[in-house]
Amino acid sequence: MVLHERLEPVYANVVERNRGENEFHQAVHEVLESIGPVIEKHPEYAEQKIIERICEPERQITFRVPWEDDRGEVHINRGFRVEFNSALGPYKGGLRFHPSVYQGTVKFLGFEQIFKNALTGLPIGGGKGGADFDPKGRSDREVMRFCQSFMTELHRHLGEYTDVPAGDIGVGGREIGYLFGQYKRITNRYESGVLTGKHLSFGGARVRTEATGYGCAYFVREMLAARGRSFNGMQVVVSGSGNVACYAMEKVHQLGGTVVACSDSSGYVYDENGIDVELVKRLKEVERARIGDYVEHRPAAKFVADRSIWEVPCQVALPSATQNELDAADAAQLIASGCIAVGEGANMPTTPDAVRMFQEAGVAFGPGKAANAAGVATSALEMQQNASRDSWSFEFTEQRLEQIMKDIHARCYATADEYGMAGNYVAGANINGFTNVADAMLRLGL
Ligand code: GLU
Repeated sequence: MVLHERLEPVYANVVERNRGENEFHQAVHEVLESIGPVIEKHPEYAEQKIIERICEPERQITFRVPWEDDRGEVHINRGFRVEFNSALGPYKGGLRFHPSVYQGTVKFLGFEQIFKNALTGLPIGGGKGGADFDPKGRSDREVMRFCQSFMTELHRHLGEYTDVPAGDIGVGGREIGYLFGQYKRITNRYESGVLTGKHLSFGGARVRTEATGYGCAYFVREMLAARGRSFNGMQVVVSGSGNVACYAMEKVHQLGGTVVACSDSSGYVYDENGIDVELVKRLKEVERARIGDYVEHRPAAKFVADRSIWEVPCQVALPSATQNELDAADAAQLIASGCIAVGEGANMPTTPDAVRMFQEAGVAFGPGKAANAAGVATSALEMQQNASRDSWSFEFTEQRLEQIMKDIHARCYATADEYGMAGNYVAGANINGFTNVADAMLRLGL
């Protein structure tokens, strides 16, 4: 899609200044595509170079992470933290440990995070971090040593009023524990609000683990309701089998849908009677096994190696694995099989041409910035509890999460409508998130 004439040079400049960082270019382009009408309405944003400022991170940190494996061999990894925008609050966003992580990954994720966080209506800025460390096959002790080394450098950049990381791919409750332990040890401060996604035993919030997946299902429920539909009787496909996917599946089942397939990087499992979510959780979280092992416990199910999960017919698709996992060919199959709604559980899992195809086919499409915002929103609730030294019940926290997702849906819907694009959640999310940040930046001065 062509950009507004005032945004074209901004985008060209981003590409020029951040060479080779393709996912970052993609994320920037996607937001700029939406905000042309905003620039028309608010020329002051362009005059004050708000867009150029938003596209340049406030601070980028790259550091060495040396650690020793169980055999005594030394390894060197590269750690990152991109502190992208603090107009609305302390930098907030997860850490990703995956061998593919480089500056461009962290920048694309940090950029997305700015608008996602703004959309929640909570006082959090945007940031992201990670390392090119591969936790696969590493022992618990190795993961601990890696986390300790990572935090030994990162701690100087963090603080509950400065920058508050959490988990993402490859970083779950175990890693957050080791990271917090090291932060506490080095700083001699029990600063609970410096990390979120903590275990309940040391300041974690109830529902944080479930939040992203639950919230994605809630968001899709709202999109379906806006069209007079519900999850009842729907066949659903969820890619991935990590934290987001597992809890999205759990909530879909509670809301009356049936998840018939889920996956990991080796392939997908199809279980027409409905995926046994407890079994997937046990295989992936406890045994750290491959998804193919599912069929040993459920003989009626089948495992399909090395093929796209999107060949499985469904009415609702929740891509919850990783970026650009659902392309135009997948979108064509999904549309042909009668898919009516897509909710992104992962960050930017759908390629731009696939998004366009869904929108042209009239499929309700919930972008990650909106559909997966419940994770970070619940992180903000965790920060609230830490600041007030409080601990809320599961019911109360889930009610707040559900309300936040309803509000995000309503905001996206109303904003798209205001700009004459009713039902376009991509435009609604981008415009609403952008204007919240841009307005604060204007008031904060240069
Ligand atoms: N990594 C999650 C996300 O992509 C959560 C971030 C957080 O809780 O800070 O939004």
